[in-house]
Amino acid sequence: MSLPRGSILAAMTTAAPSPPVHSPRLRNWLVAGAVFAAVAAAIIAFGTPYAKRSEMAEAAARGEATLRLAVTALRGHMRRYEALPPLIADDDDIKELLAQPSEERRAAMNAYLKDLNTVLESSDLYVMLPDGDTIAASNHDTPTSFVGENFSYRPYFLDAIAGGQGRFFALGTTSLKRGYYFSAPVRSNGAITGVVVVKVDIEPIEAAWQGAEGDFIVTDPEGIIFMSGRPEWLYSGLLPLTQERLARTAVSRRYANAELRELPIVAEGPAYGQDTMTLRTPQGRRELMVLKEQMPEAGWTVKLLVDTAAIHAQAHTKVAGALLLLLIATLALAIVMQRRGRLAERMALQRAAREDLEQRVAARTADLANVNRRLETEVAERTATEAQLRQTQADLVQAGKLAALGQMAAALSHEFNQPLTAVRTFADNAATLIERGRSDEARETVGRISSLTERMASIARHLRNFARKPNERLGPVPVAEAVRDTLEIVGWRLKAADATLHIDLGETAPVVMAGAVRLQQVLVNLISNAADAVEGLPDRRIDLAARVDGDKVTITVRDRGPGVSQAIAGRIFDPFFSTKGVGKGLGLGLSISYNIASDFGGRLTVANHPEGGAVFSLTLDAATVLAEAAE
Ligand code: ADP
Repeated sequence: MSLPRGSILAAMTTAAPSPPVHSPRLRNWLVAGAVFAAVAAAIIAFGTPYAKRSEMAEAAARGEATLRLAVTALRGHMRRYEALPPLIADDDDIKELLAQPSEERRAAMNAYLKDLNTVLESSDLYVMLPDGDTIAASNHDTPTSFVGENFSYRPYFLDAIAGGQGRFFALGTTSLKRGYYFSAPVRSNGAITGVVVVKVDIEPIEAAWQGAEGDFIVTDPEGIIFMSGRPEWLYSGLLPLTQERLARTAVSRRYANAELRELPIVAEGPAYGQDTMTLRTPQGRRELMVLKEQMPEAGWTVKLLVDTAAIHAQAHTKVAGALLLLLIATLALAIVMQRRGRLAERMALQRAAREDLEQRVAARTADLANVNRRLETEVAERTATEAQLRQTQADLVQAGKLAALGQMAAALSHEFNQPLTAVRTFADNAATLIERGRSDEARETVGRISSLTERMASIARHLRNFARKPNERLGPVPVAEAVRDTLEIVGWRLKAADATLHIDLGETAPVVMAGAVRLQQVLVNLISNAADAVEGLPDRRIDLAARVDGDKVTITVRDRGPGVSQAIAGRIFDPFFSTKGVGKGLGLGLSISYNIASDFGGRLTVANHPEGGAVFSLTLDAATVLAEAAE
């Protein structure tokens, strides 16, 4: 049984000032154990008496019913014979026998009584004379014949001879068989002439009691057991066998020569709400529940003695069942508490994990925010750097423009110096010729001076064009015109490089949408670069061609120089990209030209001619309306 374990657990929790219990699981088990021990102790202390009381009451109720049935049966059995003696006593043959007890009549009566006894299923039938002698009996022919016996000491005889009906229970002095005696007087002419007795056997009744739940006993008024399912209890007294009692019993010889003794009663009294008595038996003490019912008509007390051992066992079983249920309930409770504990632990773990995750996410977010801030700073720095770069570029473009201006100034001074020197020489010549009177030659010389000034005026006009603002409007520009103006500017450069320029504008003389000055600027750049490329080479030819292709016009400048290598082809349009030595090239020419082409809605590309040399192609929209180039 698990009680001791519960007790130990309870002792552990209550008595031992043990170190604090850290594990919630162990604590749950200890609590469950303590609860079990406490409730189990309460059940044992209060539940056991209650269970016994209720089991006893139940057994008593059952026993009382059995007892009532038994008493009813006993009464019925008695009543069957109660009325017989007066009826038999009224028989004329008996009266005659008593009046004149002849041998014949006795024999006839003996036979009659024997037959009647068989029919009535009684034990014995006999007729007595007023002095108590038995004159005729149903057992006349047996060794224990009553005939001739005197039973005048029996109370049933005394009652009948006195005129009443007698009834008596006793052990037969002759037959040594227990029986119940019913008697009645035989009256003849008003006088009592004898007594008729019917003895009833009670052993069949005892036999019927066998197998009942408990032992039946019937006691007489002196408390002596004369009927019992257990032969060893017969003639035992439930009350102390005092001299008085023994004397009263001896007078009637109720129990003949049977030895009377006291029942070995050790204890008596109520237990668990019922009357009990405890007997000493060879097997030990035996507690019996006593249920009783009076039969006043016979002066008997019928008792049912029920062994309480089974009742106690039943009660103990019930208590054990309750303890088992308690154990199961406690275990279930402990398991539920355990589960809840485990669930709580798991939830706490999950919460901790979630908090950890949240913290990590927060930390990572903070990191990301830092990185973001750094990136923003970097972007701002980059933007500032870019702006600075652009400013620097703008400055450099300005510087490039100034450098170009310087170059142009040098070119212009060269262009102007040549005709000026010629003009001075021609002027000196003319003066000399006039002094000599050679007026015709002088006139010719002056004409030359005039043409030279005309050329200088032309150069000045182009200078004015360069001075123009670049934000001119786009308009139709005849390519031929642009080329002519360009040659005015680059003529000296071609001459310096000793290059020859071959121009082929096709038959249609194309017109493009452009700004005349800027178109000129582009062409100046391309031709200057070509002149640079071929300078010092054996083949110094440069081709300038224009072709109409649908609504586009492509102007190409081809030289026979080294061409543009693949490595630098992608970069030559970048500002400040130059392969020319310091002081020679600024790397702005192609960049400016590229942007101008874009401004015109066209494109500037470079390629290498299969036969060698670079080919720059300027593709522009063809002008649909022929008009004068914007001046
Ligand atoms: P710059 O002439 O001042 O160097 P450009 O922008 O006009 O600047 O030219 C950039 C570079 O392109 C030149 O330095 C040169 O290397 C290359 N380039 C331009 N035109 C030609 C060409 N016709 N043949 C070979 N390389 C050329």
